[in-house]
Amino acid sequence: MNTSELKTQLNLNFQNRFSRLGSQFYTHLQPTPVKSPYLIAVSPSLLKQFEIDPAVTNTRDFVEVFSGNRVHHSSKPLATVYSGHQFGVWAGQLGDGRAILLGDLNASRAHETQSDLHEIQLKGAGTTPYSRMGDGRAVLRSSVREFLCSEAMAGLGIPSSRALCIIGSDQYTMREMPEKTAIVTRTAPSFIRFGSFEHWYYNNKPEQLQQLADFVIDNYYPHLKELANPYQELLKEVVKRTAELVAQWQCVGFMHGVLNTDNMSILGLTLDYGPFGFMDGFDPSHICNHSDSQGRYAYQMQPRIGQWNCHALAQALLPLIGDVDAAQDALSCYVEHYESSYLKKLRPKFGLRIELPGDQDLFDSYLDVMATTKTDFTLAFRILSKITSQASPQENALRDLFINRDELDQWLIRYRQRLQQENSIDAERSVQMNLVNPKFILRNYLAQQAIEKAEQKDFSEINRLRQILENPYAEQSEFESYAQQPPDWTAQLSVSCSS
Ligand code: AMP
Ligand code: MG
Repeated sequence: MNTSELKTQLNLNFQNRFSRLGSQFYTHLQPTPVKSPYLIAVSPSLLKQFEIDPAVTNTRDFVEVFSGNRVHHSSKPLATVYSGHQFGVWAGQLGDGRAILLGDLNASRAHETQSDLHEIQLKGAGTTPYSRMGDGRAVLRSSVREFLCSEAMAGLGIPSSRALCIIGSDQYTMREMPEKTAIVTRTAPSFIRFGSFEHWYYNNKPEQLQQLADFVIDNYYPHLKELANPYQELLKEVVKRTAELVAQWQCVGFMHGVLNTDNMSILGLTLDYGPFGFMDGFDPSHICNHSDSQGRYAYQMQPRIGQWNCHALAQALLPLIGDVDAAQDALSCYVEHYESSYLKKLRPKFGLRIELPGDQDLFDSYLDVMATTKTDFTLAFRILSKITSQASPQENALRDLFINRDELDQWLIRYRQRLQQENSIDAERSVQMNLVNPKFILRNYLAQQAIEKAEQKDFSEINRLRQILENPYAEQSEFESYAQQPPDWTAQLSVSCSS
């Protein structure tokens, strides 16, 4: 089967912004077709943004274009080159080994008349010149996880690439064992990474480095153009966005799993979903990626790793910034910005409105009590909203989560005193807390159940989960079972880099 150009009824108009950078930055190529592709799931909210009629998603044209079996006539597909530090070590040239950029589509912004261009990539669309030893494919398991988590992050309000749809094929891809193949269509304003800059820096190509930086500034940070040192300002913005992103991850117990510099977005988005995980029982040293034996990317390491990665970016941008002090100055925002973002997000999680000295210690103490007996991270925050200013039977729901009840009770005394200090009103606080403490997260075992059904061609669970996770803060009492702690059998579930 040859990939052929499609004159389709699909009303898409790809623009090809990245192509303008020139051929050193990418390789034009066609996706490799898969056998008998079929639609698995779509994101209705993204379809709406791209003004794609849901009715067309059932057509052959849609499945052909988003499996990569045919190329839309307005698209000039390409794979981009980048490099990166993997697990702290310079890895040299990497690049899109299995993702193919179709081009940019216009997306309307909710409640706004303006629209934005978003890159559209097919992940798992076949080998590219950057595939190294890889087969260019992605398996159903990892594609379902990426699809669901991208949409879950959007629901949580955490910056992330998104996923428009998954297309499946019964063609097998070999991992530890043969698995079904799938292609995720993922979208982001840009997939440019820290490693895209490192590539030109370590190859000693200052012109390309500048060209890439100017491209990023022109397209994504145009307000920096007129400033005295736009490259220093670019670094500063990326540092701030990265710090803010990591703070958001910490507050929902999200672990990325592979925070290599080639997986770090220049726009501060969560990118490249692989062996990620959400915390179940709270353990700050939890490692979600089975392949990360040293725990470099453990939950508690993420803030420091975010900073380490910003240093790697600063190094790459140094020839443009021009002086070390200016780069240091930009980098120095990280700690302050992380700490203030983290506290700013944590305070409402505890239902507090005003800032008082000692708050950080109060928060840390709760996390410590949770950690001593691995209390469920999500429920420990969600159910905290049931605590009232006077002791009441309602609080048993929270006490039931903790084995170390004496410690919890000691902490609750302090918490109630703190609530009193701002004359907190129970009913109001409870409503506010439920707006920031999710009830539903993508627990590994929930994803696993959806994957197992999908292997049998039953996609209902993927759709149900996507729908629930779209509104993770809403009560949705009909889905109570999706908000529970994971059952015991899930303890053996593990995820590795293999995807
Ligand atoms: P990751 O850690 O998943 O972000 O991947 C690191 C690098 O390996 C990236 O350049 C990927 O494009 C590439 N890669 C991962 N899996 C495959 C695969 N199955 N085939 C080709 N390249 C891959
Ligand atoms: Mg990657």
